[in-house]
Amino acid sequence: MESAKDATTSSYRHPRDLAGPWHAEAACRRDEAGMFFAPSKEPTAARLSREEAAKQVCARCPVMLECREHALLQPEPYGVWGGLTAAERRVVLARRRRRDVELQRATRIAAAG
Ligand code: SF4
Repeated sequence: MESAKDATTSSYRHPRDLAGPWHAEAACRRDEAGMFFAPSKEPTAARLSREEAAKQVCARCPVMLECREHALLQPEPYGVWGGLTAAERRVVLARRRRRDVELQRATRIAAAG
């Protein structure tokens, strides 16, 4: 479970806090950082509501794909990035790993003739 406490004890940051090629266009630069990260001991209903609000900001963000890919590649362990929660990013990464394994297996089979 991501939380503000966890985030502050790790490498807490968000597109609004970064300077880079796409960060200046981040829609979240105009929104409260608290919308994107969970406070400590946040009730489930409040978390779902906060995450949905953050995702709505991401949905109108011109750099959503860049942000999402950045968060997947790092990977960023906390917060909503690119319209995905940390849990959703873990699912995407697991699918990518499975896909990569399947592609490697198919390539080995094809090379073996
Ligand atoms: S996709 Fe969301 S988290 Fe990423 S820069 Fe845009 S508004 Fe911020």
